[in-house]
Amino acid sequence: MAIIEVRDLVKRYGDTTAVDGVSFSVEEGEIFGILGPNGAGKTTTVECIEGLRTRDGGSISVLGHDPADDSTELREVLGAQLQESQLPDKIKVREALELYSSFYRSPADWNRLLEILGLTEKRETQFRRLSGGQKQRLSIALALIGTPKIAVLDELTTGLDPAARRDTWSLIENVRDSGVTILLVTHFMEEAERLCDRLAVIDSGKVVAVDSPAGLVSTVDDEQRIRFRPSAPLDERLLLDLPDVCDVQRAGSHIVVTGNGNALNAVTSLLARKQIIAAELRVEQASLDDAFLALTGRKIDN
Ligand code: ADP
Repeated sequence: MAIIEVRDLVKRYGDTTAVDGVSFSVEEGEIFGILGPNGAGKTTTVECIEGLRTRDGGSISVLGHDPADDSTELREVLGAQLQESQLPDKIKVREALELYSSFYRSPADWNRLLEILGLTEKRETQFRRLSGGQKQRLSIALALIGTPKIAVLDELTTGLDPAARRDTWSLIENVRDSGVTILLVTHFMEEAERLCDRLAVIDSGKVVAVDSPAGLVSTVDDEQRIRFRPSAPLDERLLLDLPDVCDVQRAGSHIVVTGNGNALNAVTSLLARKQIIAAELRVEQASLDDAFLALTGRKIDN
């Protein structure tokens, strides 16, 4: 069932058409990503969904509510992540949660939220004394405090180190598993690939594809490059004769085999038969980066 339905959304700022006919629908219970480079129109799109911006065209339905005229009802079902600048420096974690709880008809048990988010120890800490990761987790807690059916998270892990980023990803999966639908804005390929059930790829205000990360990747060539250093001399022609192998090159002491389908299996079986070990084996395959490049003609600038 579609929980968010966006049809032909248009939003202009003066002469700039930031969102130019965007359509997608988000199913209940999924993590739906909006992926695109900076300036693609991602934030504008979600701000229209949140009712923070007035659209110039198209329609939006969030659980049957039109954000343009139903903002009170919408607030009860949709939780948005705050931008960091929206909290005063000196507010304590507990105070922020008490304040935001008071805005909702059925607020969540925020002690439980703190526990889930690993912030219990920081209850009495001022906002300005929190680390980047802790601030991020607090903003997630505030997005969830009204027990929303949908949480909108914008550039969730920007500025976090890789470990904090991975922790945040598992946290978001837990939130999804608890029944909250998540709309996630990101320009990180790895985040989109790891976290999203489906993605809308947006470029210059337009949707260029909607699919699962694996679906997007499968639209590009399934070519693989298998690179290794053989432990003993190996006749390249044997490799070239293997099924699904298209090319074999030497690169110093390494061999690089290009192929598709079952090439990797064929290469490893041949090496096993010849009792040759493939040292420093690396297999490169198409990634979401390649899919993005194929769809938009350029690389995303992380
Ligand atoms: P993204 O979130 O993908 O980085 P945005 O939705 O923030 O993209 O911006 C899309 C386009 O709209 C950009 O060209 C940006 O400069 C422009 N834009 C965004 N907000 C405003 C605004 N308040 N006034 C004028 N132009 C804006």
